[in-house]
This record gives sequence, structure tokens and C-alpha cells, in this order.
Amino acid sequence: MYVGVFADIEGSFGIWRMRQCRMGTREWQYGRACLTEDVNQVIRGAYDGGATRVLVKDTHEVGFNCLVKELDPRAEYLGGHYVKPSLYGDIVGIDLVLYVAIHAASGTPDAFFPHTHYGVFSELRLNGVPVGEMDIYGGYLGELGIPIGFVSGEDVAVNQALLTLPWARAVVVDKEKSAYTSGEKSLTYLVEGRELLRSTAAEAVRHASEMKPLVLKGPLHFEAVFRTEELARKYNTWDFPRQGATVSWDASDMLEGFDKLNRLVFIPRWSYPARRPMAFAMRNYYRIKNTYFAPKPDPEGASFSVHDSR
Ligand SMILES: [Zn+2]
Repeated sequence: MYVGVFADIEGSFGIWRMRQCRMGTREWQYGRACLTEDVNQVIRGAYDGGATRVLVKDTHEVGFNCLVKELDPRAEYLGGHYVKPSLYGDIVGIDLVLYVAIHAASGTPDAFFPHTHYGVFSELRLNGVPVGEMDIYGGYLGELGIPIGFVSGEDVAVNQALLTLPWARAVVVDKEKSAYTSGEKSLTYLVEGRELLRSTAAEAVRHASEMKPLVLKGPLHFEAVFRTEELARKYNTWDFPRQGATVSWDASDMLEGFDKLNRLVFIPRWSYPARRPMAFAMRNYYRIKNTYFAPKPDPEGASFSVHDSR
């Protein structure tokens, strides 16, 4: 069985604030070590459960967050964003996706760094209903025949995901600072939590046959509510219908709908003919930058030392 371990970062064990998710900061360098640890546990769990091949797909921001040299060497790694399949790149043949370190949807109250796909939206709606990333990504992967069978993240994020993916196995992750800065207590919490990532991922893979690709029946009507009308105007180079801060588009299925969403936020119309070489250049730029020019980590008092991360 070919398993995809897809990684966001907000929902990692060890992460309690936004700066730890912001590329290029010293706090993010600490966050990367936390994420890498979580991803490694899920890779191990996938193999425990019967995976024969594992691909790590790094997705947060520009898609180079995991510390690649520290990843379990059995797994392949795919960083950065691609044009086709929209955003993810070559994921053909994957049987099951395990989604690590997710976060809540745009507009979720009292959530850690809630957003849907991109920080410019205050809400993303599909056929009139607010949606999160597990609806959008789940529906996109589902259209390709790939189920999501595992999620980890804070409780509200996990609960939202399970409404869409009721078959998925889940691990809840604390987002309170005190969970990670309380010495021995924090270390115990981390060891147990990460052990749970491994065993839960294994269980998801063992039960892969129960997991369903999420198929959202078309026609689909998308509404992206931008944080301001000015942002909506700036991003809508595609002249999708716009009313104030809300940009909308229709699609016959999630492949088309997600492609249009990515065009709206990542591919301004003028750059469309050059999208492939541009994506290629961006991947190489960020891969080199984030591999060789990363800052020293700042754990800000975390009990988890990034140096004994294995
Ligand atoms: Zn993210």
C-alpha cells in the first residue's frame, strides 16, 4: 500500500504560537523540528500498519517545512507547490492520505491560527456552507480516488475534519504554551502524544479499506470572502464575479474548483502562461533557502530540545 503523509504545521505537537509557523523565523526553525518529529511518527505508524511505500508531501506556506535530513529515510519527500495536479504535484497511485498537523477553518472562534487555504480569506464557502481545508483538500483528493484516513491537530480542527471525514482516525494536540514549557510534565506529554500519532496512523493504515474518498457532488459554487474588498480586487485578476469582498466561481467538480481557487490566490492572470517555469523556479529557490540558509532555532523556553529530536 502506497501511503501519502501530507503535512501542514499549525497542528504539530510542540507548537503554541503563530510565529512558530512563519517561514524564515527562528521560532519556525523550532517549529520545523516539532513537525519533523510528528511526521516521522506518522511515517513509522504507516509502515507498522502495512504501508509498502510512503511519500511525505510538505504543504504549509511554500511547502518546505520538514527537516528533510532528519526524516525517516524510508520515506520519499515532495516539497513545494506544483501546477498539476493542482498544488500537490505527483501524487498518482497513492492509496491513502494521512494528514498531519492540520488547523481549523477561517472564521472559527477561539482557534489556533484558523484559515482556509490562504490567510487572505475570512471565510470560504462551498454551496453556501463554510468549509475548511479537509473539505477542500479531502474533496480534491477524493475526486482523484484518494481517501484521507487520519488527521492530527487541535480539538476544534479535528472535530471539523471528522464532520467531513467521519471514518478518519484522529489525534488531538494541545495548543497551550504551558503544555510545552512545563519541564518533565511536557516531555511526558510529548512522548505519549507522539506515540499516539504512531499507533493511530498504524490503525488508520490497517483499516484503509474502510476509508472513503470524499466525493462532493457537483455543480459546485465557491464563494471566497476576502478580509477586505481591496484584497478581493487585488487577487481577482481572473475577473471572477465579485460582490464587495466576496469572489465567486462555479465548477463541475472539485478538480476544476480547486484549480480555480489556486489560480485566484497563487497564479495571477499575467503569469499564467509561465506558471510551470515559475513554479519550478520557486521550488528550487525555497528548497535551497530553507535547506542551506535557515536560521538557528529559537525554542523560546520549550522543554523539548530540538537537538535530541530523535
Ligand atoms: Zn499551514
